[in-house]
Amino acid sequence: MQNVDITIVGAGSAGLTLALLLAPLGLDIVVLEQGSAPSVSKVNHQRVSALNLASQRLLSHLGAWPAIAATAQAYSHMQVWDADSFARIEFDAASERLAQLGWICDNEQIRLALYQQLKVHSNVRCEFNCTINSLQQSERDVLVNINQQQILLSRLLVGADGVNSHVRRATQLPLTHWDYEQQALVASVKTSQPHLATARQVFLPSGPLALLPLPESNMCSIVWSCTTERAAQLLALPEQEFNQALTAASNSVLGVLQLQTKPSAFELKMRYASSWLCGRVVLVADAAHSIHPLAGQGMNLGLMDVAALAELISAAVAENKDFSEARLLRRYERWRKAEAQTLIGVMEVFKRGFSNKQPLLKLVRAVGMSSMNQLPWLKSKIIAAALGNTGDLPKLAQPQAKTRDLA
Ligand SMILES: Cc1cc2nc3c(=O)[nH]c(=O)nc-3n(C[C@H](O)[C@H](O)[C@H](O)COP(=O)(O)OP(=O)(O)OC[C@H]3O[C@@H](n4cnc5c(N)ncnc54)[C@H](O)[C@@H]3O)c2cc1C
Repeated sequence: MQNVDITIVGAGSAGLTLALLLAPLGLDIVVLEQGSAPSVSKVNHQRVSALNLASQRLLSHLGAWPAIAATAQAYSHMQVWDADSFARIEFDAASERLAQLGWICDNEQIRLALYQQLKVHSNVRCEFNCTINSLQQSERDVLVNINQQQILLSRLLVGADGVNSHVRRATQLPLTHWDYEQQALVASVKTSQPHLATARQVFLPSGPLALLPLPESNMCSIVWSCTTERAAQLLALPEQEFNQALTAASNSVLGVLQLQTKPSAFELKMRYASSWLCGRVVLVADAAHSIHPLAGQGMNLGLMDVAALAELISAAVAENKDFSEARLLRRYERWRKAEAQTLIGVMEVFKRGFSNKQPLLKLVRAVGMSSMNQLPWLKSKIIAAALGNTGDLPKLAQPQAKTRDLA
């Protein structure tokens, strides 16, 4: 039997970021991951995320950003349009006096950069390829049985184990969910025209198609969300026919598109745990909530969750208080639930607004989007939200964040 202060289940972007944020506190921390350690051999841009400025500030503070940026593509323009009408809106970094609007980052590179930084902290141990056999808690501890042999006793356990969270299920935390009735097809594609550091998204009647720029000027990552039926049809097509369908769906905005990797499919569901706490167990990021990828905000939201939790834990440790007490965990839950609920609502409006084929609604959205495009002040507000510069941000993600002082 081993006693630790904090166990984090899941070494995805959220789990590793939390471990790194807490490492300087000197607490005894264990990260348990069912998969393998992050590896450079898996950095291939098959899974990417658009990270915003708030996430970049947090990852910079942790020293992970230079390695992430080395394989990322910054984008300075964004174009969004409706395939079914004249609706169109464009955003530009220069008009916001910024160098870029965000970065398209390789998910595995994010994990790798965080893991490399963690290695210098001897008080944090990562265990990969491990299976959690049981999870129980008493008033004082959480007991985890790993690999049928090892018992860990922790004062706090954090579930950062993604959309199908084992921790959430083991603690029977209630989950609200609904199916977006869509799948996202993800792949890298070659484009016959350069992407010009522009992130593009077209809203098709069956769902949005995003073309996200990668470091090579003629490579993009696609996130093609479509009905489950359409996704199955597309996946069954020979490569050349898939390329033709993809090029047509993109309105040939980047010329001819050609698959470079086999598309992978992700089922899209809104998931929201109505409670994120059970005794000394707390959920973060995708384990607590998952949203439609159309606005590229899921990982950004999860990173802010762990920054908020780390901020509260750090303050408690600085004051010699119990960092796993219910009041602190409830404060974290209230703080981050408010942000998650707002995004879930916004995603729902987008998803329903753009998949509706009613002529009047189509006209309203076309007029609305085109009018918005003419209003710089409104565009600035939208951009500020997308950059993560609005809302109740954790200190390390705030625009002026510079120091290592968490409390
Ligand atoms: C198609 C698509 C596109 C997206 N694009 C964007 C984007 O552009 N921008 C953005 O911000 N977000 C985006 N997202 C969302 C983003 O990918 C997720 O929000 C983010 O990866 C969640 O991170 P996480 O660490 O919470 O979970 P995960 O990345 O899922 O990590 C969870 C970890 O826990 C491990 N685990 C699971 N169960 C166990 C267990 N029982 N024991 C031990 N370990 C376990 C897993 O192996 C995994 O390593 C997108 C999502 C999808 C599906």
